[in-house]
Amino acid sequence: MIRRDPEDVKLRTPERDRMRLRHGPAAHAWRAWLRRLPKVDLHRHLEGSLRLSTLLEIARRHKLPLGLDPTPATLEPLLRVTASEPADFQRFLARFQILRRFYTSEEAIQRMAYEAVADAAADGVRYLELRFNPAALAQAQGFRLEEVTEWVLEGVRRAEGDFDIMVRLIMTIVRGEDPEVAWRIARLAVAHRRDGVVGLDLAGDEARYGPESLLPVFRWAREQGLFLTVHAGEVGPPANIRQAILVLGAHRIGHGIQAVHDVQVLRLLHERGIPLEVCPTSNLHTGAVAGFHRHPLPDLYRLGLKVTLNTDDPSISDTTLTDEYLFAMAGMGLQWPDLLRILENGIEAAFLSPEERRLLARRLHHELRALGGAPGEGPEASLP
Ligand SMILES: [Zn+2]
Repeated sequence: MIRRDPEDVKLRTPERDRMRLRHGPAAHAWRAWLRRLPKVDLHRHLEGSLRLSTLLEIARRHKLPLGLDPTPATLEPLLRVTASEPADFQRFLARFQILRRFYTSEEAIQRMAYEAVADAAADGVRYLELRFNPAALAQAQGFRLEEVTEWVLEGVRRAEGDFDIMVRLIMTIVRGEDPEVAWRIARLAVAHRRDGVVGLDLAGDEARYGPESLLPVFRWAREQGLFLTVHAGEVGPPANIRQAILVLGAHRIGHGIQAVHDVQVLRLLHERGIPLEVCPTSNLHTGAVAGFHRHPLPDLYRLGLKVTLNTDDPSISDTTLTDEYLFAMAGMGLQWPDLLRILENGIEAAFLSPEERRLLARRLHHELRALGGAPGEGPEASLP
């Protein structure tokens, strides 16, 4: 346990606590260990995964009108959550608007997709479902949805060839989107199924926008064989989770952590075996949860729900999947066997065919055995 004196407690924020867990005395050994664990990330946004160094280069080369001289020091607080700012969902979402200015060319978008996959692979992610919003990538420069989709696919394809990782893509529609644009995205997703696009995602502000206007789009996509995942119960009420499942037909729920406040919704998730894509650091940064010690992940897990661990926006939140595993243990009290179960949940919840899922499971199990990752063999004695 970390001992805190009263002065220290006054200065605490969830983000400072997170940094303490991440850089504490035992964290180094654990992070090295957890990085080697072959992992699955089902909830990661391309737009939230961009390297600051690449964004700096783009800002300088294209002389982006950002109202500041782009340096690492000026860009970081613009694009990444800082320890001193209040956790706030709107503030978090606003960063995606700023990022739109950086989608300047085919080369930039291909590179962003390539690097997002490369960074996941370097973190030990063996299976990644990367989601992107073609409308966001296309809008600022007036690109066509079709071309930005091709560029993302090309960047991902190249990275998959260069690194030890399997990638599938999910196309994101934001709540409140023009239904005509949403239809075009859904049609594109279906058209690119052979290129690794497996699903459709509904994201954005669940407090302001219901899904009603997009309902026919999601129904059609499901009929066409796409998997659906819906951001719900992140900062909004548990009723949004029920709606995502019963009305939109979601196969998985993005976040869904507010389910913990509603027994009926918990029962629904349990009965239908709907997986939750939990992203702990993101929940701190959006203000959905006041700290890891208050995070409902352990409760949801112990209730037998299919919880998975994911990153959401590794660049905006300055995190990795390795870190999220570390926080689940050191910040929320889960144990090594629990992490292995959560990893299994990730494999079972993957938007793959049963045969592909079996192959993925076989491959990861083989790797886990080779790692010798039996409970008790990690550096548990030094857990913070
Ligand atoms: Zn998300």
